Amino acid sequence: MPVRQYMVQRVMQFDAVVVGSGIAGLTMAVGLAREGRDVALVTKKQLEDSSTNWAQGGIAGVLDTTNEESIEKHIQDTLDAGDGLCDEDVVRSVVLEAADRIQSLINEGVIFDRASDGNFDLVKEGGHQEKRILHVKDRTGAAIEGTLIKRLHEENVTILEGWMAVDLILQKQNSPEEGISGIWCLDPEGEVHSIISNALILATGGAGKLWRETTNPSVATGDGIAMAHRASVKTKHMEFIQFHPTALAMPGKQPFLITEALRGAGAILMTSEGLQEYRESDKKPEHFSFMRSIDSRGSLATRDIVARATDRILKQSGEPHVLLVTEHLNPEELKSKFPTISQRLAKYGLELGPDPIPVTPAAHYIVGGIEVDSKGQCKTFEGATYKGLFAVGEVACTGLHGANRLASNSLLEAIVMTHRALKKALVETEKNQENDTGVPLWRAKGLDNLREHAPIKADRQALQTIMSDDVGLVRRNERLQRAQRKILHITEEIDRIWRSSKPSRKLVELRNMSIVSSLVIDAAISRKENVGLHYNLDQ
Ligand SMILES: Cc1cc2nc3c(=O)[nH]c(=O)nc-3n(C[C@H](O)[C@H](O)[C@H](O)COP(=O)(O)OP(=O)(O)OC[C@H]3O[C@@H](n4cnc5c(N)ncnc54)[C@H](O)[C@@H]3O)c2cc1C
Repeated sequence: MPVRQYMVQRVMQFDAVVVGSGIAGLTMAVGLAREGRDVALVTKKQLEDSSTNWAQGGIAGVLDTTNEESIEKHIQDTLDAGDGLCDEDVVRSVVLEAADRIQSLINEGVIFDRASDGNFDLVKEGGHQEKRILHVKDRTGAAIEGTLIKRLHEENVTILEGWMAVDLILQKQNSPEEGISGIWCLDPEGEVHSIISNALILATGGAGKLWRETTNPSVATGDGIAMAHRASVKTKHMEFIQFHPTALAMPGKQPFLITEALRGAGAILMTSEGLQEYRESDKKPEHFSFMRSIDSRGSLATRDIVARATDRILKQSGEPHVLLVTEHLNPEELKSKFPTISQRLAKYGLELGPDPIPVTPAAHYIVGGIEVDSKGQCKTFEGATYKGLFAVGEVACTGLHGANRLASNSLLEAIVMTHRALKKALVETEKNQENDTGVPLWRAKGLDNLREHAPIKADRQALQTIMSDDVGLVRRNERLQRAQRKILHITEEIDRIWRSSKPSRKLVELRNMSIVSSLVIDAAISRKENVGLHYNLDQ
């Protein structure tokens, strides 16, 4: 078989490389560039392809820092959701810094909604005792993403759109304490280049695409976690996957998130029988919710409780979805507050207000990830700090969420922790520091283009089926063990293809998805008690 050499491999050098263009990556790149650093931002599709851009509900934070009672309540709600596994110091410090960082977003130009009295229109979501979530209608993430992209374009940043990070370049193989040299990236034409830097910031977001039904965009394949793992970086709490209980369930369509804020505004979860009974009675709608007998907060209980209750109801009834009922609410107000949801429903011939919304749980957020210290620096397998390597945003595990994330705490975590990591990354990239790596090139031996893409497609579907059927909301030992064996088989197959072919984007993703799936399954098998989002019927 003829072997083709890479002819146009390039080596580029920057002070810092940021991978990812969601809230974390954009904040980092803008911050570094403002301090005069030479920065490259690598993002695998377009800048706005990110979970950030899809966030609806908002960002949690107590803005009045003198209101100790409210701050304590936010801390308590976060700890309660985390089910004993949060790092309390991290929780306290993040909640205390919320006001400053949200103000920074406002200074950048994000205009959060205000009520008629001029104050911020704060809303409440599941698990929150108080109204403390700032939002921009139901498109908060798009407002943040759009504003930060504008700021990015004002700075001197090299933007590599359509470039995909493949693997970290280490100073010395098998010696993470020596630090990082940069990253290999696949360009849009399929060539791999070396990008050298003193600081590398992974801001690659989540991994919802490991599951068949997810609210996440297509870019969420866990790449940052897998790249870090291959470079001996520690991961933590990988078993805690948040399933959102209310994703729009339309046959054959990608699940679309119906924000929890709609339940905050009074929407009630019911079965179709419950809805029928409600319509025939003069009692309040919450009397007919299946959530009423499960949690005193009813439809506004935390996501894990609502999602598991819904899962049980669906398994019992064999129905494909339950209903989110809004017919008792003012339709005009709903449409004005939730224009994105209203437009999406209209596409399917449903009207927000009068029509019940069919919903089902879908994979939404990965609580665990790359273990980082208080400055966003990655830890090695042995627990040492990995020089020059940072992880920020959803890809990182900071200790804030513990075993479960409180709604709207993730955008908050991303801006607070990115701000802290930025300070340290500025030190790592002071101009007098030289990176003496030489010129590492991607795999010395040339490789052929991948001849057949069909096996990759089939393996990706198989992986999503395994993860959805056996590593979902409700787990069992036998199913986890079966999933472990099957994913291992897929991993070995991909490894064989990887060693013999030139990387394609789909191959890179599948390689990463198989590694992250194994990390989730191994962590779920190791967890011996039910806590937070981990729920195993055999425990
Ligand atoms: C539908 C939806 C609604 C949500 N609503 C809320 C909410 O209301 N409040 C809240 O707090 N949180 C919410 N979340 C969660 C929150 O949006 C995310 O946790 C947060 O935006 C993550 O930001 P990030 O910067 O870490 O990653 P993302 O915004 O996901 O960005 C990741 C970036 O990395 C890039 N990338 C990935 N892999 C590679 C690679 N190999 N090479 C190059 N680039 C790569 C992607 O293309 C993307 O640009 C929601 C999430 C979803 C999906």
